[in-house]
Amino acid sequence: MPLPASAQTVADSAREAVIVLRPDAVFDGETATLRKGWSVLVRANRIQAVGPDIATPAQASEIQLPGTTLMPGLIEGHSHLFLHPYNETSWDDQVLHELLALRTARATVHARVTLMAGFTTVRDLGTEGAGYADVGLKQAIAQGIVPGPRMLVATRAIVAPGAYGPRGFEPGVAVPLGAEEAGGPALVDAVRRQIGAGADLIKLYADYRWGPSEPSRPTFTEAEMRMAVEAAHGAGRQVVAHASTAEGMRRAIAAGVDTIEHGDEGTAEVFAAMKAKGIGFCPTLAAGDAVARYRGWNGAAPAPRSVQEGYDALAKARKAGVAICMGGDVGVFAHGDNAREAELMVKAGMTPAEVAIAVTSGNARMFGIGDRLGIVKPGMLADLVAVEGNPLTDISAIRKVSLVMKDGILWKGPATR
Ligand SMILES: [Zn+2]
Repeated sequence: MPLPASAQTVADSAREAVIVLRPDAVFDGETATLRKGWSVLVRANRIQAVGPDIATPAQASEIQLPGTTLMPGLIEGHSHLFLHPYNETSWDDQVLHELLALRTARATVHARVTLMAGFTTVRDLGTEGAGYADVGLKQAIAQGIVPGPRMLVATRAIVAPGAYGPRGFEPGVAVPLGAEEAGGPALVDAVRRQIGAGADLIKLYADYRWGPSEPSRPTFTEAEMRMAVEAAHGAGRQVVAHASTAEGMRRAIAAGVDTIEHGDEGTAEVFAAMKAKGIGFCPTLAAGDAVARYRGWNGAAPAPRSVQEGYDALAKARKAGVAICMGGDVGVFAHGDNAREAELMVKAGMTPAEVAIAVTSGNARMFGIGDRLGIVKPGMLADLVAVEGNPLTDISAIRKVSLVMKDGILWKGPATR
């Protein structure tokens, strides 16, 4: 049924809205320079002009943002909107006992708090047993049914048969699993099925613990991952590898994945190979920090080995010149607390400016969306946030979000005039 004429007019005028945002300064997402006195002109869902001499056009509304820096909408590199913190409910219990509708209802709340925290895009790396519900949540957000970030979704993720949890059941009895099992030639079919069902990217677990009290060891062979990557890349999808062992990383790199998550045991040689192939690294320091605290660590020095390993891996990756992703594995800890990863990256030795660039243009380029997101410049989509203070000298400024605009629509902010 066509819209009545009046509703159509309202929709058209919203699409053509013109807004001038007047912060104290602009950080464009790619240059480590604060542009004092700059403003941003938004028309419909695009940035039309940026600079020091932006006049307010007739019919435009103007938003004064004193004390703030306007910057690109933040981009979370590693989320699980279908998980909630493990100190509330263990991962096993979430996967085994929580109903899909319960998990989905909770995910809509996670999506809202993520958006309100200034994260206008997330790369969501697996529903962990919630099937293809991420595809549905992404549609609900895109259709304006629930507020939330833009989503790049991995759907179920893929693990080698026998290599993932929950574990400890009579073999042969089917129990819910945190990802889809596939190996050999069937792995390629799993990649294609997930893409057909809505996956924007494919996630492979290159290593995992084969038993409850074992260290991580490789799961897929290099040849298996090579086939999976070929199928995904042919379909225009990136491949993400969960890998924490040096050998799992080596195989994933040889297979040609696009980013590696965790990487705790990465060596200088492994990171040099990543650099040579242009593979990004997502250290997920916040997840390591959160899990250590759930196990009783109070944050005091010395940090537990698992936490220190993450810092060391990041240092080695930076020394090798690997592009660093900002992604905390949020879901292990509370959604909306995404800034925790950015703060830990600074603690581990990156400058606030490097992290501010990583969480905007860096992530956008790494995820293949840098042509439209991550930079404040004319022609880009109008995903913008205003933060109190200067994120280039104090990354914690991204916790103080006073305005959130996504696709030209204002979700949080002072009244226009
Ligand atoms: Zn994860």
